[in-house]
Amino acid sequence: AIYLDHVSKSFHGKAVLRDLNLEVRDGEYLVLLGESGSGKTTTLRAIAGLEPINGGRVRFGHVDVTDLPARKRNVSMVFQHDGLYPHLSIRDNLSIARNRKIDSRELQSRIEQAATILEIKPLLDRLPSQLSGGELRRAAMAKSIVRQADVRLLDEPLSALDATVRHQFQHDLLRCHHSQPASTIHVTHDGNEAMRMADRIAVIDQGEIVQVDTPHNIYHHPCCVSVAKSIGSPP
Ligand code: ATP
Repeated sequence: AIYLDHVSKSFHGKAVLRDLNLEVRDGEYLVLLGESGSGKTTTLRAIAGLEPINGGRVRFGHVDVTDLPARKRNVSMVFQHDGLYPHLSIRDNLSIARNRKIDSRELQSRIEQAATILEIKPLLDRLPSQLSGGELRRAAMAKSIVRQADVRLLDEPLSALDATVRHQFQHDLLRCHHSQPASTIHVTHDGNEAMRMADRIAVIDQGEIVQVDTPHNIYHHPCCVSVAKSIGSPP
């Protein structure tokens, strides 16, 4: 599980995360929902160790990782931009995604598994520039499968895809999650997306978590008007 305890973060004296508390259970698919500028990406970066925090603690299970550098946290982060090296084939991009020394047979079997789950086997020997937008997202997600991280962070994974590809990739993400469960945070500003995908939804507003619950409970019992609006609950 991931625990954020009283996390705070300011940029140039402006508070972006304020006493933020959140638990993501083992193997849970949690959607972090909030408007632009509410602090979603900053929260992911704090968990990944890419952004030092000003107060509070970050724990993975019993381990306090607050002072650990990013490379020592077993986290995989999938950005809107695919994060693939343009000069390397998809296979080579997947090969360098491993975070611990593993032998080459184990690596080959992980690549095989990831390519099967994401249906990119025929694409392994191509360069990223030879893939479509949807295929690139699948390749980026395959990296996360190869890495076998306990914590998976997805920043707007469905943005800027056309409707058909988005729908398909939404299923790919859930299939990945079920074949290799990790504590997952999927960031979005889209209430419908949150409703369709989440085990639980955490709503963030101006750097604070205002409600965490199942899609059903949030939809039927939003804590306030702004949550009702973001989820699309009837008035
Ligand atoms: P979006 O959906 O638009 O990506 P978000 O919810 O992910 O928004 P963050 O990217 O976490 O929001 O940003 C929260 C606030 O912190 C914003 O006001 C942003 O301008 C500010 N911010 C983020 N990173 C920095 C930085 N490195 N320096 C200064 N301000 C920053």
